[in-house]
Amino acid sequence: MATNGSTPQEWGGNMAADPIRNPVRAIINLHTHSEAETHAIGVALAKVLVAGDVVALEGPLGSGKTCLVRGIADGLGLPTSSVSSPTFVISQEYDVDGLTPLVHIDAYRLRGPDDLDAIGWEDLMQSKEPIVAVEWPSRIAAALPSRLISIAFTHAGEHDRLLSISSSSTLVERMQSVEWPPSVVARRLNCPICGNTVETTAPTFPFCSERCRLADLNAWFTEQYRTSRAADANDELTE
Ligand SMILES: [Zn+2]
Repeated sequence: MATNGSTPQEWGGNMAADPIRNPVRAIINLHTHSEAETHAIGVALAKVLVAGDVVALEGPLGSGKTCLVRGIADGLGLPTSSVSSPTFVISQEYDVDGLTPLVHIDAYRLRGPDDLDAIGWEDLMQSKEPIVAVEWPSRIAAALPSRLISIAFTHAGEHDRLLSISSSSTLVERMQSVEWPPSVVARRLNCPICGNTVETTAPTFPFCSERCRLADLNAWFTEQYRTSRAADANDELTE
């Protein structure tokens, strides 16, 4: 899939970093170098997921969100051949007897609360039967549960992606038990603003400093960054 000219500065993690709507805690940062590695991250994550978990995947087009969902399906033992970007459907369900089902939702397609009703969102959240993966979760931020696993994807080169995984506090222990593929466990990376080396354990990660974090935030507010997906007539209705 094309990356639509996304730059390393395109940081899709603002939802996860929002301490008011989503009081989550960054617990691990991964660096994937290929789709195969992104898939492997999904497989590893699936090993600790249980029915009722909601996984929010935020990031630009082509950043590997669907690839990771395919990995989750694989890890759950579900058939993966039919897992595709749900661009033309809002919700897809993968259900095999005896296995935990997976529901894959593209919130970008939702035009408003009626559409959330149409896919049975409330029932989904209350049933706690499937695992739910949501792409473009910031579009339905108000409807997301507080108990959430959030994965923010950032481009860091043609095939390289940074994944910042955070979760609500009750899930931290489970997330820390995931056996990530060793090749994706990042130790230090380059700050997307200034290029300085930054340890992945830095409180400001992926930025080297508070100053660079604020510079990135400011760039968003002043719209120096364009979204990689063109706005359309559906946009305002989910606000
Ligand atoms: Zn910096």
